[in-house]
Amino acid sequence: MRVHVADHPLITHKLTYLRDKRTDSPTFRRLTEELVTLLAYEATRDVRVEPFDIETPVAPTTGIKLSNPKPLIVPILRAGLGMLEGMVRLLPSAEVGFLGMQRNEETLEAITYANRLPDDLKGRQCYVVDPMLATGGTLVDAIRYLADRGADDITAVTLLAAPEGIKHVEDSLADLDIPITLVTGALDEKLNDKGYIVPGLGDAGDRLYGVV
Ligand code: URA
Repeated sequence: MRVHVADHPLITHKLTYLRDKRTDSPTFRRLTEELVTLLAYEATRDVRVEPFDIETPVAPTTGIKLSNPKPLIVPILRAGLGMLEGMVRLLPSAEVGFLGMQRNEETLEAITYANRLPDDLKGRQCYVVDPMLATGGTLVDAIRYLADRGADDITAVTLLAAPEGIKHVEDSLADLDIPITLVTGALDEKLNDKGYIVPGLGDAGDRLYGVV
């Protein structure tokens, strides 16, 4: 897996406010959206495009447009929903599929409880969005799910990642013969014994949407 930690002062600045426990949900949502737009810029560096002829008022020229099939953005419910708007803003013609995954807080294993995705993802570039790469269980399941349906290039976009989670994803998906990329806003120190990222930002879903 290619890992890209976005190293930009604006990203670190916004992440600092996101981490701060005094930041309220509306501000947290707005900052998440802004951060995703910055991360999406990096994550889409290799988005597939094709040449496209146009005429400017002065002369014909060739530009580029997104290739078909269009990329698929896959937010992992529920926290990934907070990242969808920022991704769609940068890739307005992308399609969106949903994967509902939740981790069992005792075993820390991911359970898939919903999916709304095309059955056939042959030749698709997919962008999986989930704020926290913690143990990596959810991301492993999501990437395998997409690869099993034919996705041939998968990029995960996260706000934060833990080293243990990255290692777990790399080890678990070593058999997959497709490009897998992680773009993250920061690489944090470690996981605590409850599987939370340290220093992290707490429960991303709760902070986005309030505790339910
Ligand atoms: N999920 C979260 O929302 N936060 C963490 O720190 C780990 C997993």
